[in-house]
Parts: sequence; C-alpha cells; structure tokens
Amino acid sequence: MTLAQGRPYAAIPGPSVLPDRVLRAMQRPAPNIYEGEIVELSATLWPDLRALAGTKGHVAAYVCNGHGLWEATTANLFSRGDAVLVLASGRFGLAWAGHLRAMGVAVQLMDCGISSNPDWAALEQRLRDDRARTIRAVLTTHVDTASSVKTDIPRLRQALDAAGHPALLGVDCIASMGCDVFRMDDWGVDFAFAASQKGLMTPAGMGFVWFNARAEAAGQQADLRTPYWAWGPRAHATEFWQLWHGTVPTHHVYALREALDMIGEEGLPAIWRRHAILARSVWAAFEAWGAGNPRIRLNVPDPGHRAHAVTAARIGAPDGARLRAWVEAETGVTLGVGLGMESPEDPQASGFLRVAHMGHVNAHMTLGALAAMQAGLEALGIPHGPGAMAAATRVVAQA
Ligand SMILES: *Cc1c(COP(=O)(O)O)cnc(C)c1O
Repeated sequence: MTLAQGRPYAAIPGPSVLPDRVLRAMQRPAPNIYEGEIVELSATLWPDLRALAGTKGHVAAYVCNGHGLWEATTANLFSRGDAVLVLASGRFGLAWAGHLRAMGVAVQLMDCGISSNPDWAALEQRLRDDRARTIRAVLTTHVDTASSVKTDIPRLRQALDAAGHPALLGVDCIASMGCDVFRMDDWGVDFAFAASQKGLMTPAGMGFVWFNARAEAAGQQADLRTPYWAWGPRAHATEFWQLWHGTVPTHHVYALREALDMIGEEGLPAIWRRHAILARSVWAAFEAWGAGNPRIRLNVPDPGHRAHAVTAARIGAPDGARLRAWVEAETGVTLGVGLGMESPEDPQASGFLRVAHMGHVNAHMTLGALAAMQAGLEALGIPHGPGAMAAATRVVAQA
C-alpha cells in the first residue's frame, strides 16, 4: 500500500525545496513599484548577492531562468565569429555550447566526458597552441547538474595562468551557488552566474550575473548585445526600473530577501559544510548498495570531483526508472531523472537517476530519501549490498 501521504519531497536538482519562510514572504499584495518598500528592499539585495559569490564586482539581475543567463552573458561579451573554448562535463555544458553557437559564437568544444575533470595538461597545451590568442573566453560549469561532475575552478585558473593566456574565465554556477564553495575573486573568475531556483531556495524566474572590470571591458565591443540583456544599465542603474529593465519581479524579490536572510543566519561556511556532509552520506549509501551489485555505482569516481548539491548514479536499466517510480508512488519522495547519460532512445537511459541535496535540505530529509530508496530496492528485488543506512547515518553521526 502507498505510504506517500504526508509532505512530499522533491529531491530533484531544481527547482529545490521552498522554505516556508520564503513562501510566507511572498504572501502579500502587489506593491507600488515606484516608491516605498519594494524599492528600499531591492537595494539591500546587491551587497548580499556579492557576498554570496565572493566578489566585489558587479551584479546584473534578470527576470529569467538559467537558459536566459547563457544568453545574457553571451550577448554582453561576444560578437559574431568570436572564438570561445567550452569545457563540457555533461548535458548542461553541451547545452551552453549550443546556445553560444546558435548566437553566432565560434565554439571550440573540449568534451570532458561525463565523469571527470578536464585533462589539465591537454587544456594547457591547447591554450599554449592558441598563439594568436583568438580564444576570448574559457567557459565551464562549476557543477554540471546532469552528471554531477564538479570542475576544479582554481585548477582551471592555474591552467590559464600557466599558459599565459588572457582569455576570460566564465563559470556557470547555477547548480552550485549556495551549495558548493565558490570564491569568484579569490579564484580569478571573471564572470559567473546563478539562477534563483537551486541553492538560492527561491522560485524559478530570477537570474544573476556577477562580472568584474575585466569582463566588462572585454565586452565593450560585443555586437550581440541587445537592450534587454545589456548588463551595464542593470549593474550601474541610476533609476530603479533599470535594475530589472522593467517591472521588478515583486514577489520574487520578497522571496529572495528572505532566502538571503536565511543564508546570512546560517552562514556560508556552515551551508557549504552541511551540503558536503549530506553529499557524503548519499555517496556512502550508494557505495554500500554497489558492493552487492556492480550495476549500482556513483557516476563520478573521484570524490573530489563530485558536486555537493546533486549526485548522479547508475542503477542499471530498467531499475533506475523502476526505483524512481516506486519511491515516488510509495513514499512521497521524487528523485531526479538521469539526464544526458545516454541518448533517450538508448535502453540504458532508464538506468540512471539523480538525488538532489540542494538548498533547504537537512539531515532527516536526505536520510529519509535514502531510506525510501533502500525500501524500494528491497520491494522491487533489485540486488544491493547491505549496510547502506548504517553507512549513511554514520556520516551524519560523525559530522
Ligand atoms: C539548471 C541549470 C541550468 C538551466 O537552468 P534553467 O533554469 O532550467 O533554465 C543551466 N546550467 C546548470 C548548471 C543548471 O544546473
């Protein structure tokens, strides 16, 4: 019989769980957008957004989702025919490259597979070989949400520096901002971006681009810029409407204010640690299950290259899809689908799933999701090793 009644839990990598505080903050009438509370409250967001990304640089805010941010950054930085190097480690990196290409940018793709970081020596060589310095930017996801690969951004900076290459470094932090450690200025990142519905615990519909003076200067000649996406008037707004290039997304702003308060109260170091511990508890469970079934394994072998916000795993086809369906119907937990691991027509595609541990998530939620999966493996007769719950709880107990 189903035991799914009760509060549902969508353990999918975005949209993430909305805190009750954030929902309550949105429960109010539409404000006057010309003066008063919303204008004053908006101004308080910018310093907190800078602190979140670890930068003293500029912030441009958009009414858009993550796909919009790919377009926003491309429009501000590049002209038709400009060359960029995209390091892709999963479906999201590839999709970003697709957007750049569609807008006329000459994309050089370094496909790093779906389970590891780039070959750093090969990257360095490629940058050295670009003698004419035509590559204007090196672009990568911090975390590719499909594969759950986390790219070592300081190592990437080091590769650029070692090659003496002046390309901009741009990072998609949509899946990692507010979950994994990210320090834009310390790491020498020139621009980065994040959307509201993942680590920022706010409904989808707001996007943020952080950029430094170097990126701003490099984009001065960009011929892809359009009035809506132009980041300058947003980042250097002298009138309130310019911040969002039109009507402020009123209720999202209230929601984000509350979410940033929550982030401030917990503190980023504690938030990063919480995500790291919850991630390790998920990894421990999968490792124990996999010890009794070679088909079950984490997608990323090296723990140092695994995201702290989402974990992609193989269960084996068709058991990944069966397990997800069972867990949702019988326990009220929705797990993420496998994304970009195999082509959708491939029968192996139903062998993957993702567990999100992103944003407003605590130990009982993650341990509960793992226990629901344990029950599903047993109910469906999917072979698995013993001791997964003990392994996961031990990570939490020893934290
Ligand atoms: C979610 C995500 C996107 C796309 O964001 P949407 O809001 O779905 O458009 C892009 N990149 C990464 C790394 C993501 O996690």
